Amino acid sequence: MYADVIIDISHEKLDRPFQYAIPKHLEDKIRPGSRVVIPFGRGDRQIEGFVTGLSYTPEIEPERIKEIIGTPSDEMSIEAQLIGLAAWMKSHYGGTMTQALKTVIPVKKKEAHKNQKYVSLVPDEKAAKDILDDMCGKKNHSIPKERLLRALIEDGTMPWEAITIKLNIPSAAIRDLEKKGVVKVTQERRYRLTTDSLDTDDRRVELTEEQKQVLKEYHDTLDEKKPYLLYGVTGSGKTEVYLQMIEEVIARGQQAIVLIPEISLTYQTLARFYRRFGEKVSTINSRLSPGERYDQFERAKKGELSVMIGPRSALFTPFPDLGIIIMDEEHDDSYKSEQIPRYHARETAVHRGEMCGATVVLGSATPSMESFSRAQAGEYRALRMAHRVSEKKLPSCRIVDMREELKHGNRTMFSEELAEAIRDRLLKKEQIMLFLNRRGLVSSVSCRECGHVVKCPHCDVSLSLHRDGMLTCHYCGYTTPNVKNCPKCGSRYIRGFRAGTQSIEEALIKEHPGIRVLRMDADTTKGKDGHRSILEAFANRQADVLVGTQMIVKGHDFPGVTLMGIMVADISLNVSDYRGTERTFQMLTQAAGRAGRGDIPGDVVIQTYQPDNYSVVTAAAQDYDSFYEKEAAFRRLMKYPPFSHLLCIQITSEDEAQADGRAAQLKDLITELSVIGSKVMGPSEALIGKLRDVYRRVIYIRNDDVNRLVLIKDEIERYLLNDKGFKKVYVSFDLDPMNMM
Ligand code: ADP
Ligand code: ZN
Ligand code: ZN
Repeated sequence: MYADVIIDISHEKLDRPFQYAIPKHLEDKIRPGSRVVIPFGRGDRQIEGFVTGLSYTPEIEPERIKEIIGTPSDEMSIEAQLIGLAAWMKSHYGGTMTQALKTVIPVKKKEAHKNQKYVSLVPDEKAAKDILDDMCGKKNHSIPKERLLRALIEDGTMPWEAITIKLNIPSAAIRDLEKKGVVKVTQERRYRLTTDSLDTDDRRVELTEEQKQVLKEYHDTLDEKKPYLLYGVTGSGKTEVYLQMIEEVIARGQQAIVLIPEISLTYQTLARFYRRFGEKVSTINSRLSPGERYDQFERAKKGELSVMIGPRSALFTPFPDLGIIIMDEEHDDSYKSEQIPRYHARETAVHRGEMCGATVVLGSATPSMESFSRAQAGEYRALRMAHRVSEKKLPSCRIVDMREELKHGNRTMFSEELAEAIRDRLLKKEQIMLFLNRRGLVSSVSCRECGHVVKCPHCDVSLSLHRDGMLTCHYCGYTTPNVKNCPKCGSRYIRGFRAGTQSIEEALIKEHPGIRVLRMDADTTKGKDGHRSILEAFANRQADVLVGTQMIVKGHDFPGVTLMGIMVADISLNVSDYRGTERTFQMLTQAAGRAGRGDIPGDVVIQTYQPDNYSVVTAAAQDYDSFYEKEAAFRRLMKYPPFSHLLCIQITSEDEAQADGRAAQLKDLITELSVIGSKVMGPSEALIGKLRDVYRRVIYIRNDDVNRLVLIKDEIERYLLNDKGFKKVYVSFDLDPMNMM
């Protein structure tokens, strides 16, 4: 057996492994992540390295391959753990080991640190006052210096800018006092959010009965080592439960990772963690530079931090003794990486938890089909919170049938009921949120008169409209010309649905002159603090209405909002992907949960062309269990995940004939492999068949057993290594894809 060994796990060196032979007596001991001692370089200097992969085939003549000398210790260092995790990700999700390692290990980059300078007094307060008195006694003394001393005596340490800009004291004055030994200037690295910008008053609350109950069950069952699914309705106080769990972990001297969808990584949310845990908390987000990210990870490794909060990549925080991984909003799509390796942070978190003995807690008001089915199967333990904190009622929901509105001649975007509710709230000076679900706006075709959606006769997913006017199923390749009239009712009002947040805003202003509208969508949040400034303005009641896309429904707490209008509930039902119904349910439930979080009960109006669809009906009733039952029945029948697994093979090439030819070749290979229980679909054109002059084809394989799909992937990867015909074609894998390519 042979091992790939890397000498240096800094990012630039990761793609340079060296092959070493594994001596017989070490074969059982060495695995990806193992630390080994090897001879290296001309003089065969003994150095340490990490094993990143194992193989049976030598890359050069076996005689020339040197042998591993030994393993220095059995202890799984944090590096070893992360390399082991990368190896698992590579084998499970495909791609190369280098790609996996680069995902797990942050870039080390030398760059100038942004330093924050602070000015403080050298002598104690009393001595400083004496110096001040002394100074003021002299004629023509420096006024700036006097003011500086007074300010420092008053406020203690101050940021450099606070003195030079706010107090308008020239830096020469500071430097002069520094020379005299009266003040000192110190530097600290600056991280994005520091506790001094917050009130540190941690409003500790008495836990509710339900919260206590859930924590008790959690403690009683920790020994089972199963992941938890904390399933609690919106506003049931899940975050408080997380805080409690983390507190216990910290008390044991361990660390915690909290994963949150990037979009909900708001000041509001972070502040709750900072208030409780202070400087021990840090956060990463996608806007950090690689260097800043590296710094945060270094702090974690050195033990300066106890809690890391961030999006899916925070999962790789190198905490030496990780005690818990919490994944809030576990159903969120952003936990799936769309870059190779296309890992799902949930699966990967569970794996990391197993590797290092950390507890995994998945939380959601609308658990994913995957997690809930696992909880039902006993793989996860479900913890349930069915009530809102302080007996606040869940908002009342009304479903409005937009087909009826059309029949009665109402062609605006607002149903009579929603329009009335808006007028009412404006009069009462209560706040309104209007939510437009834009996902899936792209391509499906539906009838505005009867709600009919044009679907594939073989797959029961909606067909997507391509630019050439053809409707295509990108699961099976079925193609048919676009319809002019509704196949069900004959209406000519059948088309792709398009409405933007901007047109909603315009309609509101036209109807209610003087209305204050804030709009939150991809356009208005481009700037660095775009999200935050809009949300803050709305929270401060600087607007009557907040109109927005998905961004407005995640986790924000606006007590002033008493009406949530959902403009068109069905759009995501029409997405040509079997997850459409689940997404609609999640979106509607989350959106509805935004109303009535203050003292006045909330109202939700759901406008839809498909009022009978079970995702709409169950979301309006906030009835997850019924939704799950219906959706599970459908998925079982269709053999869709989570009751089977899907492997998507993506074949892309600039040469169309190559893409088609190689896709067909792979299909033959897969058929030849004839792995038990596999159903192969395609090859067909991807949802976007050609992107930036690259042709895209997909093959889907379905199997109940995920390991069989991994096996097929391995076989294809091996085949590709040996077949030169694939030079101009790129093949990649997506296991249990969240978005259809
Ligand atoms: P979820 O995450 O389940 O939607 P949150 O944790 O955000 O719910 O809690 C909803 C609101 O209730 C928050 O404002 C929170 O501060 C408050 N809250 C949570 N637990 C308690 C409690 N035990 N007593 C009083 N208020 C609480
Ligand atoms: Zn129709
Ligand atoms: Zn089909």
